[in-house]
Amino acid sequence: MPERPGDGRLYIDGAFVPAASGLTGDVEEKATGKRIGGYALGEAVDVDRAVAAARAAQPGWAALSAPERAAYLRRFCGYLEDHYDELVELSMRETGGVRAKAEDEVGTGIRQLALSAVQVSEHAGDILPPYKAGKLSLSRAVPLGVLGLITPWNYPMNLAMRALAPGLAFGNTVVLKPAELTPAIGGQVLAAAADHAGLPPGVFNVVTGDGPATGWPLARHQGLDMLDFTGSREVGVAISRAAAGELRDIRLELGGSNAFLVLDDADVDFAASCAMIASLEFQGQTCISASRHIVLRSVADAYLDAVTSRAAAMTVGDPFAPGTVLGPLISAAQVDRVHRTIVQPSLAMGARLLTGGTHDGLFYRPTVLADVTPGMPAFRDEIFGPVIPVTVVDTEEEAVALTNGLPMLMNSVFTRDLIRGYGVAERLQAGEVHVNDAHARHGAENQMPGFTRRQWIGLQRTPVNLPAWAAAPATDES
Ligand code: NAD
Repeated sequence: MPERPGDGRLYIDGAFVPAASGLTGDVEEKATGKRIGGYALGEAVDVDRAVAAARAAQPGWAALSAPERAAYLRRFCGYLEDHYDELVELSMRETGGVRAKAEDEVGTGIRQLALSAVQVSEHAGDILPPYKAGKLSLSRAVPLGVLGLITPWNYPMNLAMRALAPGLAFGNTVVLKPAELTPAIGGQVLAAAADHAGLPPGVFNVVTGDGPATGWPLARHQGLDMLDFTGSREVGVAISRAAAGELRDIRLELGGSNAFLVLDDADVDFAASCAMIASLEFQGQTCISASRHIVLRSVADAYLDAVTSRAAAMTVGDPFAPGTVLGPLISAAQVDRVHRTIVQPSLAMGARLLTGGTHDGLFYRPTVLADVTPGMPAFRDEIFGPVIPVTVVDTEEEAVALTNGLPMLMNSVFTRDLIRGYGVAERLQAGEVHVNDAHARHGAENQMPGFTRRQWIGLQRTPVNLPAWAAAPATDES
């Protein structure tokens, strides 16, 4: 386990301190339920202190040169690299993911930090083509100021890092509120790393705690210049409603019901293998997990057979046990949500269970549901569990229309005809579509802006020719 001086404490203004209330909660290993640490239950008063510290530190941090800030970030990054193996194990324990998932989370987080340390020296601004003779125009990146970050539990380290790293690099200061289910990998180890790197007090602060008592005061804090929230649509809507009334700057990364389309000319076996990744990787608890499978009728039976045999063969268990493919869900509440609000009501509405549909504590068997129709929760809701709901349609048009009827982040389309796949992708309203691939990345770690605003500056020499009407009126002497 990496050193965690923040165990049971907050990190504010460069110091590890208890919450004002003195209250703490337990950090748990999800597969065993064992206590592996503690976290402070911060409240509004702690959030106030953290925001004030970040505000006080921001001008000095922004005034450093880009290479000076980059040097701090490289030291921050070095600490994480030195503790890579322990961080991967901590992520496995705290999130319940298998090693490959934890390596992805921690590795992506570290790469993001390294990348931001480079980018800050490369993206200071632009010189623009002259708009007017004799005038030079340039734009420069100006930090927004104090950022509040609220993050979820599924990929806690890299989801914090994707905002934290460019945010700090470009001269912002940060208050991070990690999810209460993963406060260690999502916050405490980052505080330890920042402290170890010697970041000036107040530049990076971590306030752990739950959503209503800690997240809400941060989300509404008037001392922030921007709030960056990653999490559920429900909380995102509440935050944006509040922000609209106060004209505050927010950025939301939410969930959706992603679709996996299998057209009638698809390689069905290949599609079924990709479906395992798309819907079951990390127990389906990824914002880009496929939440509904829309399949053309002529290949539906073959597809159902292929996904069912694969899902039924998956080994579910402790992520540290050899051969485990799927670990536990994150919490009893999540099991309850998947089972009682999605799978069971969909079965009651006429869906057919082909495999799974049972759980042993947090360990949920991969589940395949056939005969799923658009009115069912298994079609409509973001599942966030290891469930493959299959809906059969007759035409490509129907598949596109059904897909577009719900909010989503990323879709997949399977067809042997790439031009056809491209044509379908063009008609889908998702931000990202992959033809013949499960959810995937495009290779760019840093998809987030540098948390700067663009300032446009015009510079021109004097004298310049002004239009006659603007020139000073002639006097008798001239
Ligand atoms: P959540 O919304 O319950 O919690 C996210 C964070 O918000 C946590 O830190 C939580 O403590 C905090 N929070 C909860 N209630 C709050 C409130 N009233 N005010 C302020 N903060 C509050 O989400 P979750 O269950 O942790 O995460 C799962 C969701 O996150 C899914 O919907 C998933 O799709 C989404 N997600 C999206 C992305 C993305 O990049 N778009 C990435 C990962 C997860």
